[in-house]
Amino acid sequence: MNDRSELLSQLPLRENLRGLSPYGAPQIDVPIQLNVNENTHPLPQTVVEAIAQEVAKAATSLNRYPDREFTELRELLADYLGHSLTAENIWAANGSNEILQQILQAFGGPGRSLMSFGPTYSMYPLLASGTDTAYIAGERSEDFTLSAESAAQQVREHKPNIVFLCSPNNPTGTALGLDVITAVYDAASEHNGMVIVDEAYAEFSLSSTKSALTLLEGRQRLIVSRTMSKAFGLAGARVGYLAAAPEVTDAIRLVRLPYHLSAVTQATAIAALKNIDLLLAQVEDIKSQRDRIVARLKELGLNPSVSDSNFVFFGGLENPHAVWEGLLEAGIIVRDNGIPGTLRVTAGTESETTAFLDHLAELLGAEK
Ligand SMILES: *Cc1c(COP(=O)(O)O)cnc(C)c1O
Repeated sequence: MNDRSELLSQLPLRENLRGLSPYGAPQIDVPIQLNVNENTHPLPQTVVEAIAQEVAKAATSLNRYPDREFTELRELLADYLGHSLTAENIWAANGSNEILQQILQAFGGPGRSLMSFGPTYSMYPLLASGTDTAYIAGERSEDFTLSAESAAQQVREHKPNIVFLCSPNNPTGTALGLDVITAVYDAASEHNGMVIVDEAYAEFSLSSTKSALTLLEGRQRLIVSRTMSKAFGLAGARVGYLAAAPEVTDAIRLVRLPYHLSAVTQATAIAALKNIDLLLAQVEDIKSQRDRIVARLKELGLNPSVSDSNFVFFGGLENPHAVWEGLLEAGIIVRDNGIPGTLRVTAGTESETTAFLDHLAELLGAEK
């Protein structure tokens, strides 16, 4: 134990937080950052200016608390999502991580449980312990897919109060079929459980993949969460949101902090949404870089998963950590999720992607 962790252990910390480590994807300053699935394209200048203008306007009334209901933002988000959703169906927070935390505060907590199916987003167990919710680690099959039968059976067995389904899944990249989501919803309905589909990467999905937004109608305990951090290229703005039945947003109002979404955040998100076409223009390019990575990794004899996202998960590496280090030496950071034989890489700009693929080929001793 180092000095600080010994000092920490003297504090009257909650028992379920003892020995835990905080979320810690390395933030290393290298030229090519492909490790946390950000949109690596900078914002178009027109959008930067629109945000600056809207924020300047908001600054003139920063002596007042912001609109607690962020009505304009909810209306713009409902318009963006479509599917006949209105502002009543929408809730937003500081990143979809806060959305997920608020869901756990409202529907989880002591004596309750959250289930998700690993390998999946590493924040889920941390959000569970932060809200004193028991975490149940559901399982996928060996190739990391999840069938409707298996998922429903695991939910029936464990009866979690909340299920998080990550689709497209991080770190493996593949979306779930709607059959999996409805099977889990039906199984959870037997004990009145909530089902959340985390669609952080939905905008990058393959054209055959359908969003869980199409399932909301008539399903009171289904929530779809989204973020502006990935396709919108606004990870720094911290805006996530959900779509659900209006009464779900009422449940969340009971746990949100007053005025949790600052006037500056609201102004930024509103300006971005008013320029949605410009913002999403890069999505197609990112998808083509993603497809290029998948194709090239196969040529290199590796085993990439089907990707509905802006990143590619691949197996077939003898020593992933050595490859991770070799790339880092070349100024490229990717993600080592600790899953044997695998790494995960974000699709960058064309030149970033080329640099990654060329250095990887070199490290594997293949021809460029
Ligand atoms: C990146 C990511 C998020 C987004 O988190 P924000 O708090 O909105 O930045 C949510 N879920 C998953 C699975 C992610 O990978």
